[in-house]
Amino acid sequence: MHETDFKFLQELVETPSPTGWEKPAATVLRARLEGIADEVAVDRLGSVHALLRGSDPQAPSVALAGHIDEIGLIATYVTPEGFISFAALGGVDAAILPGLRVDVHTDEGPLLGVLGRKPIHLIEADERKTVTPLEKLFIDVGLSADEVKKRVKVGDPITVHVGLERFGEDLVVSRALDDKMGAWIAARVLEEIKAAGGAKSDYWCVGSVQEEIGMRGGATSAYALDPDIFIAIEVCHATDYPDIDKRSHGEQIVGGGPVFGRGPNINHAVLARLEQAADALELNYQLGVEPRATGTDANPAQLARGGKVTALVSIADRYMHTPTEVVSLVDMENCVQILTRFILDLDADADFSV
Ligand SMILES: [Zn+2]
Repeated sequence: MHETDFKFLQELVETPSPTGWEKPAATVLRARLEGIADEVAVDRLGSVHALLRGSDPQAPSVALAGHIDEIGLIATYVTPEGFISFAALGGVDAAILPGLRVDVHTDEGPLLGVLGRKPIHLIEADERKTVTPLEKLFIDVGLSADEVKKRVKVGDPITVHVGLERFGEDLVVSRALDDKMGAWIAARVLEEIKAAGGAKSDYWCVGSVQEEIGMRGGATSAYALDPDIFIAIEVCHATDYPDIDKRSHGEQIVGGGPVFGRGPNINHAVLARLEQAADALELNYQLGVEPRATGTDANPAQLARGGKVTALVSIADRYMHTPTEVVSLVDMENCVQILTRFILDLDADADFSV
């Protein structure tokens, strides 16, 4: 991966954008695509829409969407002693929180805090075996109660204070790869189409918001942009580490290539064309089974207006929704190449009828 592309990924992932407060990440995505895309706009919810016009109005238009929100926490109460209670923004696992450092995003900027936990010596034997529920956890920002009450407002969003690092051979580890990595892929595809001289199809790179609390930006973007094809770019569960049952969750390997979803939420012809694009490039891909409506932007997109042609392309991610998500940079790069090829191959004759 080129260093500038890596830096773009790092900036996008590290810039805090808890669900509902995505503007800082939207700004990073806009800055990257302004001057390259024909149009860049932000809608009322905060989703980024970057358009690269195609040469043939009859060719099917395509949107690739990665969501730019990340899971986080939200301050709900300051105790008389000055500790902050909080609720979850999205699917947060209370088991991994104790001991973490966090940023409380106040009006005056981020405030470093820690998730306090009693030392092991002071925890009763039976308490050690249980997960402390979210509402019993608290954030310590190291200030007096008066100072905390002055600086922290209930409703201030909170993110985990950890960045992105290279890991192993071609891997990265970070919080929030879900799914700013998807927005990175959608942006890189726009750049690659442009570098290839353009496509016949209109192409939108979508950085959607509020996916983690119900795929809300994906719903409004699919409706407003009205593309013929809407593909969600996401992370999926890698199942290549101990104690994951492949009989229940299938086989998705980090480094095994992008994962193409297969199931009722995915158009068969789009999947076939994705497979053809990967084969033509001699790049590996994997299949991931999605027996139900997926928990991705492809779900509301499929039901937008009178129904849309949708697909799901994912990158295998170990430890999703933890501060140590792990994905492969090679999987991401190959995903960009396959999706670019898929879009360049579209023309007015493309048929997605089922
Ligand atoms: Zn996601």
